[in-house]
Amino acid sequence: MIKVYLSLGSNLGNRLAYLKEAVKRLAEDPQIEVEKVSRVYETSPVGGVEQGAFLNIAVRLSTLLPPLDLLDRMQKIEQDLKRERLVHWGPRTIDLDMLYYGDQTIEHERLIVPHKEMYKRLFVLVPLTDVWTDEFFCQEEVLNTIIQLKGEKQEIQCIGEWTMEKTKQERIEAAVREILSAVGEDPNREGLLETPKRVAKMYDEILASTTEKEFTNYKLFESETAQNAQMVSVNDIPFYSMCEHHMLPFFGKVHVAYIPKAGRIIGLSKIPRLVDHVSRQLNLQERITKDIADTLEDILDPYGVAVVVDARHMCVEMRGVKKTNSVTRTTFFTGEFDRDRDLRKEFLQTVNRYRD
Ligand code: ATP
Ligand code: MG
Ligand code: MG
Repeated sequence: MIKVYLSLGSNLGNRLAYLKEAVKRLAEDPQIEVEKVSRVYETSPVGGVEQGAFLNIAVRLSTLLPPLDLLDRMQKIEQDLKRERLVHWGPRTIDLDMLYYGDQTIEHERLIVPHKEMYKRLFVLVPLTDVWTDEFFCQEEVLNTIIQLKGEKQEIQCIGEWTMEKTKQERIEAAVREILSAVGEDPNREGLLETPKRVAKMYDEILASTTEKEFTNYKLFESETAQNAQMVSVNDIPFYSMCEHHMLPFFGKVHVAYIPKAGRIIGLSKIPRLVDHVSRQLNLQERITKDIADTLEDILDPYGVAVVVDARHMCVEMRGVKKTNSVTRTTFFTGEFDRDRDLRKEFLQTVNRYRD
């Protein structure tokens, strides 16, 4: 991992909110670890343009991202936060500059590191002293420059500590540590040290749809051969979900069929993707079954949809009644499948009983 130091500034709008949002977005990037944020400083603007005072902070990161990739992420944050920069030196909602990237010297048309102006700027150097590590290789140079610049009438004032709402990852980690203690474990014993981190990462993956409700990853096709309304079915799609009553896994197979209208069909690989999408949140088997049918109804407007879900529930098998190996079946039929018993039977005959 490489230690990187950034300087952030804002002097438009809600300055502190912009800084917080920028740090939050850095911290949410899975390839960036925000290690330390400086106190918040208010500084008078330099450069002679009439404008409001800046808030400035420095941030220490560690990352494996190559420097230009990191710059891309920083510039994306600037864009997303509607950075305005009408005049060089002029007011802006947010500015992210890279001061150091490890001990490397970089001279690229998009990136000069160490930042070329930093040794002229108290508002960069002072916050940096809050976040550097003991091993930071330029300490002396920075401290000497600060003494020199203080004679030059640049005004900088610390206005408070950095406080940050915890990230999702940190909150889950803290909660898992608390659960470990509560069940009588020692969260600091060797085997458990990394567990809270792992669990937080795992939830990010297996509950990903919680914050991403819409299923958009599909394309529709018009097919001539589907004009004559033949049933399309995809069977034995594996799924894994977490039950909302105990947060234990339930998993099994999904079988889907629909009858296209006006030749409208969906790529076959998209149905398993829809199943994944619907499964990756705290759920009930009944709801998964209906959600798959409803989504296909919405995007295809077919003559009918049939969904069968067979599942094993760990909340039944591991605890409580302990009825092992019992498989729960849920079904949902719309349109022609709901009306036409023979059609339903035809589909159900293609569906194998769930077995491991
Ligand atoms: P200053 O660099 O004087 O602080 P600024 O931050 O207002 O000015 P920006 O508009 O943020 O300037 O950046 C202008 C260009 O600087 C960007 O296109 C970016 O690619 C380039 N750049 C060069 N070196 C760096 C660096 N170390 N950190 C961030 N941007 C850099
Ligand atoms: Mg700058
Ligand atoms: Mg900049």
